[in-house]
Amino acid sequence: MNNLVEVNNIVKHFPVTGGLFNNFKAVVQALSGVSFNIKRGETLGLVGESGCGKSTLGRIIANLMKPTSGNVIYEGKDIINLKPKEFKLFRKNIQVIFQDPYASLNPRMTVGQIIGEGLTIYKIAKGEDNRKKVLEILDVVGLTKNSISLYPHEFSGGQRQRIGIARALSLRPKLIIADEPVSALDVSIQAQILNLLNKLQGKFSFTYLFIAHDLRVVEYISDRVIVMYLGKIMEISDSKSLYKTPYHPYTEALISSIPDLSTKRKEKRIILKDDIPSPINPPSGCRFHTRCIYTKEKCKRDEPGLIQKDGRFCACHFPLSR
Ligand code: SF4
Repeated sequence: MNNLVEVNNIVKHFPVTGGLFNNFKAVVQALSGVSFNIKRGETLGLVGESGCGKSTLGRIIANLMKPTSGNVIYEGKDIINLKPKEFKLFRKNIQVIFQDPYASLNPRMTVGQIIGEGLTIYKIAKGEDNRKKVLEILDVVGLTKNSISLYPHEFSGGQRQRIGIARALSLRPKLIIADEPVSALDVSIQAQILNLLNKLQGKFSFTYLFIAHDLRVVEYISDRVIVMYLGKIMEISDSKSLYKTPYHPYTEALISSIPDLSTKRKEKRIILKDDIPSPINPPSGCRFHTRCIYTKEKCKRDEPGLIQKDGRFCACHFPLSR
């Protein structure tokens, strides 16, 4: 499995301004040197609490936002500073499914127009051919034929997310970035949407970057998982090993908080103390040291790098072993 995307040392800072003259006040360090690869055909889960930088990272990979530094290589090409013509070609290959299906769908367009728009823009199909292709896609995502002439407000939340998925897959992208695609849906509907995404991957061989705060959702769908905390990667692992034997204390705490997850460590519930620190002034040394139950002096002083262990990666001076 070779790499479809290489993410190299991405840094993203947001200036905070305020006051009468909108003066510079501080910098939010949303991402602080993040590197990883997305393998062709895999589903890579990206998890962490709200504010860890995962959605910002997804937007940078989709080229919806520029990083402060670092680059993203897609099929061997740096995509951060594409010329407009190159950008149009690139956009076709990476599509995004957003968290809020209603907000991401134009309420004044019919479902047929929403799904068919990309086919028109990229001159793939127009007129009756466009309509036929839209009907095919509606069938694939489990929506009825008459949906084509309806508007987004006429659908339920789960159906709207199916429309968002249909729009994303209409251009047959190579990479789909799903940013919290089920977190706004009821649990029963979540399972249906996850099953649909799994089915579509089998049918079209997509690569997924699946962003979520819910580890249960990520476990269900991912081949590998990246755990992020305060703008940094804490652990990268194949999904099975991560949930069975987490190496990083933060991963362990997240897994232990899942009520019904069957792991060897389910007997030990770890309550994370305090809130996630401010990304304006992240803690010294290990960023997790203010909440970690294993903190030692070294952790407060020295920042751990991402070290390889048994084919997995973990940023901790004292990775868990058992
Ligand atoms: Fe905890 Fe120290 Fe490891 Fe950070 S480096 S996760 S504080 S044990």
